[in-house]
Amino acid sequence: MKLNEPVTKLKNVGEKRAASLAKIGICTIGDLVNHFPRAYQNRGEILTVEEVKNRLRQKLMNMTYDAMSGEATKTSLYSEPCALILTAASEPTVRMVRRGMTLVKFRAFDETGTCDITYFNMAYMKDVVHTGSVFRFFGRFSLMGNRLQAANPIYEAVREDVSLPSIVPVYPLCQSVTQKMMAGLVSDALYYAREELTEFLPQRILSEMELPAYSYTIRNLHRPESMAVLEAVQRRRVFEELYFLFTALAASGNKKKQENRRVMAKTDLSEFKKALSFTLTDAQARCVSEIAADLSGEYLMNRMLTGDVGSGKTVVAAAALYLAVKNGYRGAVMVPTEILAVQHFNDLSALFEPMGIRCALLTGSTPKKERDAILTSLSSITMEGTGTDIVIGTHSLISDGVEIHNLGLAVIDEQHRFGVAQRASLLEKCEGIHSLVMSATPIPRTLTLALYGDLDVSRIDEVPKGRQKIDTFVVDEGYRERLNGFIKKQVDEGHQVYIVCPTVEEKKKSPETEDAEEMANVVFGDIFSAEGDLPPLKAAETYAVELAEKLPELNIAFVHGKMKNTAKDRVMREFSSGNVDVLVSTTVIEVGVNVPNATLMIVENAERFGLSQLHQLRGRVGRGSAKSYFILVSDARGETARERLAAIKSTADGFRIAEYDLEQRGPGDFLGSDSIKQHGQMRLSLAAGCRDRGLIEKAVALAKETVADDPTLSKAENAGLAARVRELLRQSENIVN
Ligand code: ADP
Ligand code: MG
Repeated sequence: MKLNEPVTKLKNVGEKRAASLAKIGICTIGDLVNHFPRAYQNRGEILTVEEVKNRLRQKLMNMTYDAMSGEATKTSLYSEPCALILTAASEPTVRMVRRGMTLVKFRAFDETGTCDITYFNMAYMKDVVHTGSVFRFFGRFSLMGNRLQAANPIYEAVREDVSLPSIVPVYPLCQSVTQKMMAGLVSDALYYAREELTEFLPQRILSEMELPAYSYTIRNLHRPESMAVLEAVQRRRVFEELYFLFTALAASGNKKKQENRRVMAKTDLSEFKKALSFTLTDAQARCVSEIAADLSGEYLMNRMLTGDVGSGKTVVAAAALYLAVKNGYRGAVMVPTEILAVQHFNDLSALFEPMGIRCALLTGSTPKKERDAILTSLSSITMEGTGTDIVIGTHSLISDGVEIHNLGLAVIDEQHRFGVAQRASLLEKCEGIHSLVMSATPIPRTLTLALYGDLDVSRIDEVPKGRQKIDTFVVDEGYRERLNGFIKKQVDEGHQVYIVCPTVEEKKKSPETEDAEEMANVVFGDIFSAEGDLPPLKAAETYAVELAEKLPELNIAFVHGKMKNTAKDRVMREFSSGNVDVLVSTTVIEVGVNVPNATLMIVENAERFGLSQLHQLRGRVGRGSAKSYFILVSDARGETARERLAAIKSTADGFRIAEYDLEQRGPGDFLGSDSIKQHGQMRLSLAAGCRDRGLIEKAVALAKETVADDPTLSKAENAGLAARVRELLRQSENIVN
C-alpha cells in the first residue's frame, strides 16, 4: 500500500522535513492525501480600486456607529481579503528604517484609481517589480485618507501565457514548509498514490445521494476546479463523515430485545418515596412506572430517559436503582466526568444510606487501596455485611479488572458525552442487564434516531412546580463595572456565583497569524458558521486573578478541565459547601452540577457556545428558592451571534433551543464530537458544522438501512465502509472527555 508508505518516499522530503511534518501528524503518503486545506482563497474574483474603496468607506461608516459604544477595533479598518489586478506606476523605492528593516514601496493602478503598496523586509521585491509590470495582488486593503493601500499582499505576476488559479487552498502548515511547498507535497502524494484512491462508499449510496466519486473528490478538495465543484465535493465529505459516524453508532448500538433474566418483581416504592423531601411530579411518576414495568417485564430494559435540565432525572434513576437493590441486584451508575460522579455519589448516598443501601465511588483518582477494596466488594457473591450495592463511577467502571457480580441495572448519565467507542463498550458491559440511559441535552428530532436508535424513550416533560423563571440578559463589555457590582451584591446577600469562560489559556496571537498569508485568509463555499472577527477569549485562570483584584473581599476560585482531578474536586467541594463565593470555570461545570445556593451565572464570550450548551449552563442556577440570573457577555457584532443569543433569552424550552441550534450550528454539539475530534483524518471536522438538515437526515436514514441490512458490515459491498468505521471506532477509543 503506497498510502501507508512514509512521506520520505517523495523526492522533496528528506529526514528533516519529514520530522517537521510529523509534528502536525503527517507521517505517511496517506496522511498527506488527507491533509485538507482549512480554507480556500478566492483570488478569481477581481475587484477594482474603486470597489474596494467603496467597501471600506461603507465599513468605516458602520464603524463610526460602533465607535459610539466605544468599541472600534483595529481589524475592522481592513477590507476583507480580496484580489486586484494592478500595474506598477513606477520603479519601487527602497528605504531602510529602524535597525535594518527595509521598506519597498511603489504605486500601482488600474483603470479606476491607484493604490500604494509596501513590502516590509522583502528587499528582493525591488527586483521583482518594475514600471509597467502587472500583478494580481491578494490581501487585506486599507484606506489612508482617501488613498488605498496594502502591506505585504500576496503577489502573482500576470502573464498572457499562463492563467492564474482562481481558487487557492490554504493548508495548515508546519515549520519551514510554506503554502506553496505544502500544495506541492500534497500534489506529489496524490500522484504517487494515484492508483490507490479507490472508492469506499457503496455504489448504491453514491447514486442515491448523487455524490461525486472519491478520487475526483480528493483532487478537488486540494485543487478545486471551480466554486461549484468545490461545493459538490465538500458536500460529499460532509456526508461521508456523518454517514460513517451514524453507521458506527448504529453498528455499535444495535441491541436486540433480550429475554429478562433479571426479573425485578418487587415494585413497591413507598419506602423510597417517603425518604424524598418532595413528591415526584406526575411526569417523574410516569417515567418511574414505565421503568418498573420494564424491570419486572418480559424483556430487559433498554430505555432512554430524557428531560430538560432540572426536570429531575436523577431521582427517577434513583428509583430504578432502589428497585434493583430491593430485588437483590447491584446497580452501577456511569457518568462522563469525575465531578459528576462525586456529586451523584454524594446525593445518592445521602438518600440511600439511611435505608441501608450502600454506595461506593470508583473513579480514575480513587486511591489504589480503596479501589482494591471496592473491587473486592463488587466481585463478592454475597451482598450481606460490608459490601456495595450501588457503585458510581466514570468510564473507569468499564475498564479492565472491574467485575461487578450480580449486576442488575446500569444507569448511564449524560451519555452523549461519552465517545463512540466508550459508548460501545458501555453497551457491551450492559449485555444481559437492564440499562437506563439519561441525557440532559435535549436532542433535535433529526438526531434522536441516530443517537438513541431502538431505545425506548421516557420523557420527563414537566419541571417540578415552583421553579422560577431565570432572568436572562445579553450584555457587552460596557456593562463590566455594573456586572462586578452585581456579583458583589449577590454574594453580599449570601448567594454564590458561577462565571464560565470558554478556554483555559489565553491564546497569544502567534507571529504567523500576522503574516500576509493569514491576513489574506478567507473561507468561502463555507459550511462552517463563519463569524468573522470574533472578540478575544477570556481565560478562566487569568480572569479569576483579575476579578480577585477588583473584588478583594470575595472568595474566588477557578476550576478547569486541565487541572488534576483531585484539585478539581477540591474546588468543587469548596463551592458546594459555600466556602467559595465565585467559581470561575470552563464548561466542566456544565454537566449536572447542583449547587442550589448559586443565583447568578455569567457566561463570558457567550458567542462561542452552542445554545444547548448555554441552556444547560443556565440550568445550574435557579435551583434554590432565590431569584436567579443568567447573564451572557458578548462583544460579537455578527448578526447571527446576536440572533442566537436573543433566542436563548426568549425561550426556556430545551427542545426548541436544540432544534434552533442544529439549524444554526450543525450537529457537532450533539454528537459528542469533542471526544472524536482530536485525532486523525476521520475527525468530524466538516460535518460538525453542517447546516444542511436534509443531508443529515439522509445520512441517518442510510446508515440505519446499511446496518439493518448488514449488521456486522461484512458484505463485500460494505468492505471499504467497514474499514473506515473500524478506524473511526479505533480512533475514538481511549479518548476521554
Ligand atoms: P436533571 O434532570 O437536570 O438531572 P436533577 O435530577 O439534578 O435534574 O434535579 C434537579 C433538582 O431538582 C435537584 O435538586 C432535585 O433534588 C430537585 N427535584 C427533583 N425532582 C423534584 C420534585 N419532584 N420536586 C422538587 N424538587 C425536585
Ligand atoms: Mg442530571
